[in-house]
Amino acid sequence: MAEPDAEQPDLDAWRTRVRQWLATVLAPRQVAESTSGAAGLAVFHNLPDDEERLLLERCRAYQRARFDAGYQALTLPRDKGGAGLSAAHTAAFAEEESAYEVPASTELISVTVRLVAMAVSLFGTPEQRDTYARAFLRTDLLACQLFSEPGAGSDLAALRTRARREEDEWVIDGQKVWTSGAQFADYGLLLARTDPHVVKQAGITAFLVPMDASGVEVRPIRQMSGGASFNEVFLEGVRVPDALRLGRPGQGWEVATATLAFERTASGGGNRRKGGTFPDVLALARSLGRSKDPLVRQRLADLYIRTELRAATVDRVARASAAGVRPGPEASLTKLMASDLLTRTGQAAAELMGARITADTGEPDTFAWTQHLLGAPGYRLAGGTDQIQRNLIGERVLGLPGEPRTDRVPFSQLPGSRRPATPTEE
Ligand SMILES: Cc1cc2nc3c(=O)[nH]c(=O)nc-3n(C[C@H](O)[C@H](O)[C@H](O)COP(=O)(O)OP(=O)(O)OC[C@H]3O[C@@H](n4cnc5c(N)ncnc54)[C@H](O)[C@@H]3O)c2cc1C
Repeated sequence: MAEPDAEQPDLDAWRTRVRQWLATVLAPRQVAESTSGAAGLAVFHNLPDDEERLLLERCRAYQRARFDAGYQALTLPRDKGGAGLSAAHTAAFAEEESAYEVPASTELISVTVRLVAMAVSLFGTPEQRDTYARAFLRTDLLACQLFSEPGAGSDLAALRTRARREEDEWVIDGQKVWTSGAQFADYGLLLARTDPHVVKQAGITAFLVPMDASGVEVRPIRQMSGGASFNEVFLEGVRVPDALRLGRPGQGWEVATATLAFERTASGGGNRRKGGTFPDVLALARSLGRSKDPLVRQRLADLYIRTELRAATVDRVARASAAGVRPGPEASLTKLMASDLLTRTGQAAAELMGARITADTGEPDTFAWTQHLLGAPGYRLAGGTDQIQRNLIGERVLGLPGEPRTDRVPFSQLPGSRRPATPTEE
């Protein structure tokens, strides 16, 4: 997010136009309060590939209409391909949109529009912005995030996937893991080590890698909730033209931290429904005849207060970003509150149901809560774990002493840095 353009359309008039436009592309929302059923309560949906493709197509149709009407990338400056509006306009759009049946979104759509498109808009050349940022914002092309590796998750800067330059190309070898939506993506935003002789953060470069390039292999990972929405991605001798390098050689860490901050903002805030919510737990308590129980009422009140606190914090962070800064460690607050709320929501539902949550007893919608319970732990890891968010808040928001650092030496001198980047090299 950046400083909004000086000339801002009047908020009320703009809101009216948004409302009129939404009415032309979406149906009004039917379900008033709770959304039950497995799809509504799942934190990460688990669909067979053909159904996932249909879902993607429905989402893309809406994202394209939104782009064409000028309502995509609202706070991104106009010269970077966005609408150049304030955070207040974003909040107004979200409010208006919530009155309509927006097609259920997916991780890949969110990664494409809210992370990769933003990274290309901010760090790309004018040609890359024209060719890729626009296509990602419109979801004409889909992009996954090739960051995490088996030995580099929380400590992402320790990544060992290598890229070496050969004339006008880069040759990439390595392995990525937990890549959401890789099997449906056209491109991947990849971080690779291009210089092992400087401190680990300084030797990383970002690339856009075509997922159909020779040497790219995607292997789905089966999750405990049943689906396979993320993958291992192996890269062996993958050749990428220098024109697909994003940012300067060695600027990859800056690209990564900006992208991760967008991810925390997207994860903590955003309209996309993730799992059950307070109204769902309330509806469950009522349907089980437990809503008058004083202990249940205490639990519900706690959940309600936390839901409101999270919404207020999302709003505060959005307003702060309107003051002209890229999302920073403050985004960790909303991510942490969102994952905590998901966990507590699942616990409250599990306590209400007791042993019934483990088996389908035929009671309407109750078994669907397993989709929430089995998905919520993943959300405490994705986009940076709870512990890492706490470290960021402690060090960069509260100014507490930092963790002891023993890695301020060239990457090549760190233990394990010489291990092969792919298992096949062993
Ligand atoms: C649903 C899901 C989707 C994902 N999608 C993607 C994707 O599309 N692209 C992608 O690149 N990655 C993706 N990831 C990976 C995600 O970014 C990593 O799982 C995350 O960064 C944690 O890394 P790790 O799993 O290697 O855990 P580790 O880093 O090995 O951490 C293990 C444990 O140690 C703790 N820990 C580690 N370091 C510290 C520290 N310094 N202080 C305190 N505690 C610490 C962690 O909190 C955690 O509890 C996804 C993950 C999930 C769960």
